[in-house]
Amino acid sequence: MAGLDERIEPIYRDVVKRNPGEDEFHQAVREVMESLGIVVAKRPELAEHKIIERICEPERQIIFRVPWQDDNGDVHVNRGFRVQFNSALGPYKGGLRFHPSVYLGTIKFLGFEQIFKNALTGMPIGGAKGGSDFNPRGRSDDEVMRFCQSFMTELARHLGEYRDVPAGDIGVGQREIGYLFGAYKRITNQYESGVITGKGLSWGGSLVRKESTGFGAVYFVREMLKIRNEDLEGRTCVVSGSGNVAIYATEKLQQLGAKVVACSDSEGYVYDEHGIDLNLMKQIKEVERGRISEYVERRTNARYVDEGVIWDVPCEVAIPSATQNELNGNDARKLIKNGCIAVAEGANMPATPDAVRAFQEAGVSFGVGKAANAGGVATSALEMQQNASRDSWSFEYTEERLEHIMADIHRLCYETAAEYGFPGDYVRGANIAGFERVADAMLALGLV
Ligand code: GLU
Repeated sequence: MAGLDERIEPIYRDVVKRNPGEDEFHQAVREVMESLGIVVAKRPELAEHKIIERICEPERQIIFRVPWQDDNGDVHVNRGFRVQFNSALGPYKGGLRFHPSVYLGTIKFLGFEQIFKNALTGMPIGGAKGGSDFNPRGRSDDEVMRFCQSFMTELARHLGEYRDVPAGDIGVGQREIGYLFGAYKRITNQYESGVITGKGLSWGGSLVRKESTGFGAVYFVREMLKIRNEDLEGRTCVVSGSGNVAIYATEKLQQLGAKVVACSDSEGYVYDEHGIDLNLMKQIKEVERGRISEYVERRTNARYVDEGVIWDVPCEVAIPSATQNELNGNDARKLIKNGCIAVAEGANMPATPDAVRAFQEAGVSFGVGKAANAGGVATSALEMQQNASRDSWSFEYTEERLEHIMADIHRLCYETAAEYGFPGDYVRGANIAGFERVADAMLALGLV
């Protein structure tokens, strides 16, 4: 691991000590802190006001019991979380993750990332994350509804369009957002559209929100390639995952003339040398909620590799869009050897620190998640704008806004990295630019 500045190292050690066993949170904090030595050296007021220590401590952490009954009448107890990390720039904002692996460390790493990601969008939103160790896989719609209603019974008191605005993440899509919003509406007896984002189009949702994280990641890649005087036309790409981010990253890559040859889920990957059939992928994942292995049952020319590593597939552009730490140092070295020139994180923290270092040392353009996947939350902020003005915008207008936001984020990261003497380092660029926006607001708002 890269070294930490001597002023920052004790702060990091303290974070590890005060948050035992939360490995992903430590990893996310360390990655940001590795970028900040040069900033604290230049700006002594940050140390004086303990800005880094304050940013690492969530403003509020809520952990609650979520009891619910399955279709057989059996009782289950899950744990719910909402970590309201930082509200210097706006109301808390960030998604909910429903997955059996979720524990406090997951939510804290995601919430911490969200602070800087949201700052990079330039929109007035603070950082938060929430979720539960509930596993929606194999559950009926009724069971999911009962779970969401129980979850919201507690969460509602902590939300509000000016207070905290959740959205989806892994395991939480439009179905769950609907049940959550319905429960909130009943509890509060008001139609407060701006309290949650990712809503359906007929009940306050925004066009492009569904597509925005994947589309945004591809726009970010396009900007990184522009800097290298390259484009996406004719490029062979690999997009891991097969959820919302992967599907719409694939769609935009295909629209821009690239060929996506592989996708995956937690059980294995599909390789289709003719290019992934997007309609089939959508049918399996969005309509049937099935496994990606079913793809090869309907496209016999494609190959399914059970428990395979998708990064074995040669490509020029990779968009890891499944989950955290899905791409390690060995995977990165394989990608580099196979001619990969650009990587953008569609998921949150999919590349391990070893992988990030390998990409950067090899001169691969590496778009870190808090910049590259910020299109989702940015479009959530556009949804909030539409809700506040009781308006709904066209697809074209909303997509144009997203495109501009992604180009602005890219420029900000690129220019910040250059200004601090690390040209082309989007990790440092994103961390420093996001941090400075939050830090400046915290300084202005005083010790609160
Ligand atoms: N879960 C998404 C993210 O990681 C979206 C959050 C939101 O729209 O609030 O950024």
